[in-house]
Amino acid sequence: MNANHYSELVELDKKHFVHPTSSIKQQQEFGPAYIFTEAKGVMVKDIEGKEYIEGMSSLWNVNIGYGREELGEAAMEQIKTMSFSNAFYTFSHEPGIRLAEKLASISPGDLNHIFFTSGGSESNDTAFKLARHYWILKGEPNRKKIIARKQAYHGVATGSTSATGIKQFHTMTNSLAPDFVHTEALSVDALRDTIEAEGPSTIAAFIAEPVMGAGGLFYPPEDYFAGIRNVCDEYGILFITDEVITGFGRTGSLFCMDHYGVVPDMMTFAKGVTSGYFPLGGVMMSEKVFSVLKDKSDGPLFHGFTYSGHPVGCAVALKNLEIIEKEQLVQNAKERGEELLAGFKQIEEEFEHIADIRGKGLLAAFDLFMDRDQKTRFPEKMAPKIMDEAMKRGLICRNITYGESDTVVFSPPLVISSEEISRLLMILRESIQVVLNKIV
Ligand code: PLP
Repeated sequence: MNANHYSELVELDKKHFVHPTSSIKQQQEFGPAYIFTEAKGVMVKDIEGKEYIEGMSSLWNVNIGYGREELGEAAMEQIKTMSFSNAFYTFSHEPGIRLAEKLASISPGDLNHIFFTSGGSESNDTAFKLARHYWILKGEPNRKKIIARKQAYHGVATGSTSATGIKQFHTMTNSLAPDFVHTEALSVDALRDTIEAEGPSTIAAFIAEPVMGAGGLFYPPEDYFAGIRNVCDEYGILFITDEVITGFGRTGSLFCMDHYGVVPDMMTFAKGVTSGYFPLGGVMMSEKVFSVLKDKSDGPLFHGFTYSGHPVGCAVALKNLEIIEKEQLVQNAKERGEELLAGFKQIEEEFEHIADIRGKGLLAAFDLFMDRDQKTRFPEKMAPKIMDEAMKRGLICRNITYGESDTVVFSPPLVISSEEISRLLMILRESIQVVLNKIV
C-alpha cells in the first residue's frame, strides 16, 4: 500500500463521504477505521492487505459469498441485451417475469404475487401501503394502524423508521409517520392486548421479523408465530413477516417461517435475494391479499419505484438463487450452523461470562454477563471490545448494545466451510480470552 494513497482516501472520506448509521464526529476525528479493497468467498482484504473472515456477510446479505463471476456474467449479459426497462403501466420484461415466477415457486404457502423494490426499507414501506390499500378496497378505510414490535428493525424510510422499535432511530428525527404502534416483542398476549387497546377495527396489519435481527438477535419461542397467526386471523388483521435478513437460506431453511410452519399474508425480502450483488427487494403477497387488489380496484396501483423490477437486478437474483439451489447452500447453512453453535457451547463452558447462546443456521449470537446465573451485566459493554480484538486478529463480527444487550453476533456467508468455521471460532475464543483476562 502506498502511504500517500491511503492518507488521500482518508482525507477525502472525511471531507465528502457521509456514512450510514455511523458517528460523524468519530469519522471527522479518526477517519474510516477500515478501507476494504477486495473480497473472495468468505474472505475480505483491507487496503493494507490484511485479510479477514467475513463473519457477518457484510450486512447479513452476502449469502453466496464474494466474487462469484457467474453473477458478474449474468449482469453483463443483461446489460448488453437490455440494460434497463421499466415495469410501469403496461411494460414488462423477461428477467422480471422469470424472477417473480421463481420467487412464487419457492416461497411459503401461496405467496404467489411479487412487487419489486430496491431494498428492505422500500419493501416494508410498500407492504404498509399495500395493507392500507387492501382495507380501503375492502371498505374498511379506518383500518390503517400498523402494529410493530419494540426493538424491531424494519429500515429507515419514513414508514419503516416508524415501524422500527429501536429508540435511537426515532429520536434522530422529530417527526415520525402516524398510525404506528409498538407492542412487546415475543409475546402473543401482548399483541392481543395492544389490538384490544387500540381497537381492532383500526388495525391494518402486524409486522414482525421471524428472528429479531439488529435489535439484539432474539429467536421467538417455537409456538410464538402459530399464536400470532391465530390472533391476526381472529381479529382479521393482516400478518406481514420481514424476511429481509432471514430469507434465502440464512437460518438453514429457505425462509425462516418454514421452520415455524406459518404462512403470512405478506412477506418482505431484500439482501440475500441477490447476495448483495445488486440492490433488489420486494413484497410477496398471498392470494387473499392479491385477489382484493385484483378484483376491487378499478384504476392503477399508485405505487412504484423507477427500479421496481430492474432487469439487471432480476437477472442477478435468478443466477444467485440458482447457485443457492445447485450448491445446496441452505443445507450447508444448517450443517455449518450446528458447528458454529457447538463451538459457542464449548466457549460457554470455558468462560463463565458467556451465556444465552442462540442460533439457527448461520445466524447466531451470545451475550456477556458479569454473573450469568444472576443475569447481571458488566458496568461497561464487553461485546464491542471482543469485536475490536476479533478485527485485530482477522475476523469480522458485530456487536449489539442497545439497552441491556451486550451481544456478539455472527451471520457468515452460506458457503462457509468447516475449516473456516473452526478458524472463526479459534479467533473468537482468543479475542474473548484477551478481553476477559483484562477484567478478572
Ligand atoms: N428489515 C430488516 C429485518 C433489516 O435487517 C433491514 C436492514 O438491515 C431492513 C429491513 C432494511 O433494509 P435496507 O437497509 O435494504 O433498506
